[in-house]
Amino acid sequence: MDPEVSPQPTDAMSSPGTSDRPLRVAVIGSGPAGFFVAQRLLTRPDLVATVDLYERLLTPFGLVRFGVAPDHEEIKRVTRQFDKVAAKPGFRFFGNVDVGSHVTLDELRPYYDMICFTTGAETDRRMGIPGEDLVRSHAATEFVAWFNGHPEYRDRQFDLSVERVAVVGVGNVAVDVARILSRSAEELSTTDIADHALEALRQSRVKEVYMLGRRGPAQAAFTNPEVKELGELAGADIQVMEEEVELDPLSRAEVEQSDDRKLQKKLEILREFAAHSPAGKPRTLTIRFLVSPVELVGNEAGQVEGLRVVRNRLVADGSGRLRPEATDQSELLPVGLVFRSVGYHGVPLAGLPFDQERGVVPNERGRVLTPPGDAPMLGVYVSGWIKRGPTGVIGTNKKDAAETVGTMLEDLALGALRSPAHPQPETVESFVRQRQPAVVTYADWQRIDQLETARGEPQGRPRVKFTSTEEILAALNRDRQDR
Ligand code: NAP
Repeated sequence: MDPEVSPQPTDAMSSPGTSDRPLRVAVIGSGPAGFFVAQRLLTRPDLVATVDLYERLLTPFGLVRFGVAPDHEEIKRVTRQFDKVAAKPGFRFFGNVDVGSHVTLDELRPYYDMICFTTGAETDRRMGIPGEDLVRSHAATEFVAWFNGHPEYRDRQFDLSVERVAVVGVGNVAVDVARILSRSAEELSTTDIADHALEALRQSRVKEVYMLGRRGPAQAAFTNPEVKELGELAGADIQVMEEEVELDPLSRAEVEQSDDRKLQKKLEILREFAAHSPAGKPRTLTIRFLVSPVELVGNEAGQVEGLRVVRNRLVADGSGRLRPEATDQSELLPVGLVFRSVGYHGVPLAGLPFDQERGVVPNERGRVLTPPGDAPMLGVYVSGWIKRGPTGVIGTNKKDAAETVGTMLEDLALGALRSPAHPQPETVESFVRQRQPAVVTYADWQRIDQLETARGEPQGRPRVKFTSTEEILAALNRDRQDR
């Protein structure tokens, strides 16, 4: 055991978690994973806790603000639950504070009983094929962050003067990217899409969008409401080839044996797409199956001008999972822009162990484990994508938070914690403000929220986002002076 660590006293009066001595928790990362951990801790009747939620950006909500597509406004309503969490006694928001640079894990430890990282999966996976770094080849995640007004991506350029675009992958992120590229400017103009993206998409000359699945329709990762919506776009016809929606014998056997109603429904939607004739809309969105990209082909200027794909057949691996195997047939798709949408990937966090292969922090039900012996890192936890990998929908993080908080409370009961030297909430606040004077509080965020909403009103939009740090700080300063 770490010599600095002494188990907590078991005396109920002085052990953390009571009104005399609330459990002091720092949560790092204010996306859904972080808010659900805070919610769980602050709503237990048998526990008195305080939660300081740290966020490196100026605004909360992580992928709800910067990942959920702008035309999916209803999904963002989950932030109303987060507002309720933020209104609980014991909750504080430290926005604009980067744990890792402004303050480190080791520096925070003397102030908290427990620290839980909920930082998500910040980067994307690569395809690992030649030409991936050509101009006009991008990660879908960057495009998503750009059209959602993420301050670190607002200056990215995507060449929408090309007519044909390929999106590699058939998960829900690929669907979001393909749909935003296929929507008309009128459809987008009532959303909270970033102004710079609205303007660029208004000028877009894209006519054909391809989504490419390396396996068959029965293995597609997208969910039914998301794929169904692709058949309902005002300005784009959906197209699926009949021969590609036909199941291969292995998939057919698998589908027949399972009673997965959602999968049956997904196949029905895709068959309807294949049967339906185009209505002559200005754009076409084509979903392809059983094709893998093998090379991005460039022109003399180093820009993408084609994507070579190989046709696959499905074979069962040792565990019975159907995986793609390349045939000798290939084709060149004449696309000028490629978005790889083959999954997110976590990044290492300063001071924490990391599993590079899976892109997660090694853990057991949220308790961080240090290799090689897998000893628990006392008082340090993870939840959300940095814990389990980039899968599931927003609500999945609620279940995940329940598990992590369960583990935290087990450790609390066992006294398997460090004793922080300065558990008083004021001491950490003055320390953090010394390092980062421009802390954004939740009240500041609520003001930003009101200002963005007011900017959207005349245009009939839910909000017009501020997309730079300077803009937000200037708006807050103006607002403080006006009061
Ligand atoms: P995902 O669901 O894991 O999909 C990744 C896709 O990339 C799969 O089709 C996968 O195919 C394919 N792929 C992986 N490696 C590939 C390669 N080398 N070549 C070609 N294709 C490759 O990931 P995601 O779309 O990034 O979504 C992440 C999570 O966020 C998911 O749980 C998703 O449901 C969720 N999400 C939800 C919504 C929503 O609810 N509206 C919106 C966005 C995201 P294989 O199956 O063959 O591996």
